[in-house]
Amino acid sequence: MRKELHDMYSSLGISEQTAKFGEEILDSLKERFEKIDEIAEINQLKVLAAMQKNQVSEACLHGTSGYGYNDMGREKLEAVYADIFHTEDALVRPQITCGTHALALALMSNLRPGDELMSPVGKPYDTLEEVIGIRPSKGSLAEYGVTYAQVDLLPDGGFDWDNIKKAINDKTKLVTIQRSKGYQTRHTLAVNEIGELISFIKNIKPDVICMVDNCYGEFVETIEPSDVGADMVVGSLIKNPGGGLAPIGGYIAGKKECVENAAYRLTSPGLGKEVGASLGILNSFYQGLFLAPTVTASALKSAIFGANIYEKLGFNVLPNSTEDRHDIIQAITFGRADAVEAFCRGIQAAAPIDSHVTPIPWDMPGYDAPVIMAAGAFVSGSSIELSADGPIKPPYAVYFQGGLTWPHGKFGILKSLQSLVDNGIVLW
Ligand SMILES: *Cc1c(COP(=O)(O)O)cnc(C)c1O
Repeated sequence: MRKELHDMYSSLGISEQTAKFGEEILDSLKERFEKIDEIAEINQLKVLAAMQKNQVSEACLHGTSGYGYNDMGREKLEAVYADIFHTEDALVRPQITCGTHALALALMSNLRPGDELMSPVGKPYDTLEEVIGIRPSKGSLAEYGVTYAQVDLLPDGGFDWDNIKKAINDKTKLVTIQRSKGYQTRHTLAVNEIGELISFIKNIKPDVICMVDNCYGEFVETIEPSDVGADMVVGSLIKNPGGGLAPIGGYIAGKKECVENAAYRLTSPGLGKEVGASLGILNSFYQGLFLAPTVTASALKSAIFGANIYEKLGFNVLPNSTEDRHDIIQAITFGRADAVEAFCRGIQAAAPIDSHVTPIPWDMPGYDAPVIMAAGAFVSGSSIELSADGPIKPPYAVYFQGGLTWPHGKFGILKSLQSLVDNGIVLW
């Protein structure tokens, strides 16, 4: 390592041994990082080509106010998203407040009373339980007479083809497929696996709408679920596709009819996509999208670096050190509460914002155990920025993700390790 870098690490609290251990791990990752760079290059060109094809111009970066009629920047951005995802249309709006809202919007606008929603990949993300009505909630799909069926993954993580077939009936209108594992211990689905699942379902019932919760998955591969048959892909702009710059927003890309339904629900029947002022936000949406492929690559490198560091130290990591990646989330099981807390303190200490703050576990609404969260982000709650969290309960696992730049992700992991060393949890 260059002496200059060595001195910098040392002045920022990374011991020589920690830095050296990190470098040894890195030496073994060169080829993998090259592959990630190659994917980023393909995705960068994909984004660039979509912007050029749609002739994005300087005027597109300025926003409208009021009703937002004829907002050229907004319309072109939606065309750019549709080209990137190879879909007929897209809805990309700051009025979509988060990923959950985007998913709820896609579901509520495309389902009608009497329809059934089906998940062939087990339990959906926590916040969707209330959207669907698995946990009773005001305004849930259940309140509107939309029923829900679920088929769990098999113990080995595979699809339960027989029961999926049995679960598809006359009422089945929409199938929801969550790509990322979220906070579960199952594996994240590869885009090609999602493709197989969709083909199977469409073979049984061709007109069923297949929606993919694409959160944390965008730009991790060179294809997206919409390239393998998904009718709608849905995600959050404060994750991968916002590139760390979008301060809010969500997207739905898909079949024209599905997107139209969503637009009528987001604004109003009759108005649809025609209204929705973009105010001054489009610059960050465009620039964030432009940066998203390399930002996602940075987050992936950070996750892989972390997996290799902690696996080598004997902890259970998911995905493991060598597995292919289909999202940016990394789980590490420490088996002890003090380690989860020390890890999070290290991540926090590496942040550009609030690095002086000490995260402590607290009783968050909706969780059955205290949760500790480390985040020092430019955009509040943004999880494409380096962040970590974990519930203080067995098996004492921490989930971390993000890193707008690879040097920052690397530094964050080294700080987390140093914190474990300083607290006597990792002994050299
Ligand atoms: C983050 C996430 C969501 C919800 O997004 P929010 O922006 O937090 O509402 C839904 N599904 C998955 C898989 C996610 O990772």
